[in-house]
Amino acid sequence: MTLRPILRWPDPRLAQVCAPVDDVKSVRTLAQDMLETMYAAPGRGLAAPQVGELVRLFVMDTSGADAPPAPMICINPSITNVDSPLVEMDEGCLSIPGIRVSVPRPSRVALHFADGFGTQHDMQLDGFAALCAQHELDHLNGIVTLDRINQNDRSRLIAEYEAQ
Ligand code: ZN
Repeated sequence: MTLRPILRWPDPRLAQVCAPVDDVKSVRTLAQDMLETMYAAPGRGLAAPQVGELVRLFVMDTSGADAPPAPMICINPSITNVDSPLVEMDEGCLSIPGIRVSVPRPSRVALHFADGFGTQHDMQLDGFAALCAQHELDHLNGIVTLDRINQNDRSRLIAEYEAQ
């Protein structure tokens, strides 16, 4: 496994819509590299475009700090919003280090994806896991947290980011 450099916003590759994965086998090594890169960062989620690969794949581990690791590989993921209230969390992003952005998102979603073996899953996610999956799926559509807030907050946070 190999640690991959993480692209920093505003790298234009972070603004691209990623292509579906045709063959799960073709991204197995990439997925393992991404998990290793995510844990090393450390982070809780990482999407393929963040390491410069424009394919629909993200990894995440939303287990608690004291829980055993629970790595997830999500290939060609899609999200269905379950009827649930919007919640906000200060979201960090490995591609926008040092900046936290509060984004309103549904607190519960259904995540459909294929794992590293091509097995299809339908998973109900709540709370942090639901928000994390939505953040990562946004990356596959070329969207970062800064694209989901109003212009004033966006300008203020970009100024903060550039001043670091
Ligand atoms: Zn991110």
